[in-house]
Amino acid sequence: MITQKNDVMEKIVSLCKRRGFIFQSSEIYGGLGSTWDYGPLGVELKRNVKGAWWRAVVHTRDDVVGLDSAILMHPKTWEASGHISNFHDIVIDCKNCKKRIRQDHLKNGKCPYCGTKEFTEGRAFNLMFKTHVGPVEDSSSASYLRPETAQGIFVNFKNVLDATHRKLPLGIAQIGKSFRNEVTPGNFTFRMREFEQMEIEYFTKPQDADQYYQQWIEERFNWYLNLGIKKEKLKKREHGQDELAHYAKGCTDIEYEFPFGWSELEGIAHRADYDLKQHSQFSGVDLQYHDQVTNERFFPYVIEPSGGCDRATLAFLTDAYHEEEVKGETRVVLKFSKELAPIKVAVLPLLKKNGDIVELAKKIKNNLQKDIVCVYDDTAAIGKLYRRQDEVGTFFCVTVDVQSLEDKQVTVRSRDTMLQERIPVDNLKKYLMEKLAL
Ligand code: ATP
Repeated sequence: MITQKNDVMEKIVSLCKRRGFIFQSSEIYGGLGSTWDYGPLGVELKRNVKGAWWRAVVHTRDDVVGLDSAILMHPKTWEASGHISNFHDIVIDCKNCKKRIRQDHLKNGKCPYCGTKEFTEGRAFNLMFKTHVGPVEDSSSASYLRPETAQGIFVNFKNVLDATHRKLPLGIAQIGKSFRNEVTPGNFTFRMREFEQMEIEYFTKPQDADQYYQQWIEERFNWYLNLGIKKEKLKKREHGQDELAHYAKGCTDIEYEFPFGWSELEGIAHRADYDLKQHSQFSGVDLQYHDQVTNERFFPYVIEPSGGCDRATLAFLTDAYHEEEVKGETRVVLKFSKELAPIKVAVLPLLKKNGDIVELAKKIKNNLQKDIVCVYDDTAAIGKLYRRQDEVGTFFCVTVDVQSLEDKQVTVRSRDTMLQERIPVDNLKKYLMEKLAL
C-alpha cells in the first residue's frame, strides 16, 4: 500500500533509523530530547549537502571566501549582537494539559496539543546555553555556546579584509554548529537544540544592498531546486514589517512543504549596517570599510543568507522519498540528485558462492572506489540487494554474473528507470563517471 501523506514522516523516521541515516542521540540511555546523531549514510548525505553549498557559494564564486570560527566567543560578542537582551522566546504554559509552548506556536490562539485556550502569563526565555570557560565558575568566566555562526563572521570581518585585500562586495561563508535551548523542539531534525548552520554575510556598499538582497533570494531559492527539490514544494515568504527587527530592511524565508506543513529552511535578511556598527561600538575597533577609490569610510551593509544544514538535509530526504507499485509490490526509493546521493554505486555479485564472480566484483569495487563513493554487498539475493540500494538512493547497481567472467561485461542498473545495460568492465568507470557527472 502506498503511504498517505500523514504517515510519510513516520516512515522516513523509521527508514532513517533502520538504514543508518539518523539515530536518536544517547539512545541507550533513553535519548536526549531534540538531539540526533547521523549514522553511516546520514553523515555521507549531510557531507554532500554541505559540499554542494560550499561549492555553490564559495568555490564557484569570485566574491565569497570561507571561514571556520570558534563556537565559544568573547561574552561581549553577545551583548553587541543583542542576543543577551533580545534572543528570547515568549513561553506560556497550557493550564489544561500543562505543556510548555512558544507563544508564537499557538494554533489560532489554541494549544497545539489539546486545543484549549487557557494559558499562564507569557515569560521571556533566553535561548542561549550558558557555560563557564576555565576552572572557576564565577560571573567573569561566563560564556555561551553560540546560537548562530554569523557573529564569528562579523568579528573576523577586519581580519579577513586585511588578509585577503578584497574589495566590496565581499561575502564570508561559514558552516558550523549552533546551539539553542529551544522551548519546543520537534518534528525530527527540523528543530533541535544542537544543529548545524550554513551562513553567509555578504558585505556591500549601502547603495548596492537592495540589488544584492534580491539576487541572493533567487540564488538560494534556485540552489534547492537545482539539487532536486520539487518546485511545488518550495516557496518564498517575505516577512511583514511587524516581523522585522528594528534595524532590518527586509527578510525573506525559503520554505519547504514538509508532511507537517510549510516550514522555514533558510532566511535571507537585509541587515543594513547594524552588526558592524554594534561590534565597533562594543569593541572600540573601527570596522568601517575604506574605499580606496572615493576615499570614503563607511560601515558596509550586510545581506545574510542563513540556512540550516539539518533542515536542508531533512528536506532533501523527505523530497527524495518515493513509493512505487512495481509488479504488485511497493518499491521504496530515495530519489536523491546525483550530487546528494550518499552512495553512487553498489557492486553486487549475482552468485556469492562462485569465487570467481566474487573476486571480479571486489576487484571492480576496489578500482571504482578511488573515484566514486561505492559499496560492495553480497549478503542477500539480487532482488533484495536492489531493493536495499533503492531504499537508500544508490544511483547505480553494477551486477557481476557468470557471463561477466567470459565476456568481461557487467550489468548496470539505473535506480530511477530500473533499466539495465551491459557495459564492458574496461569502460565501466568512465561510463559511470560520465553519467554521474563526476
Ligand atoms: P525558527 O523561526 O524556525 O525558530 P529562526 O528564524 O529563529 O527559525 P534563524 O535564526 O533565521 O532561524 O536561523 C537560520 C536557520 O538556521 C534557519 O532557517 C534554520 O534552517 C536553522 N535553524 C534555526 N534554528 C534551528 C533549530 N533549532 N534546529 C535546526 N535548525 C535550525
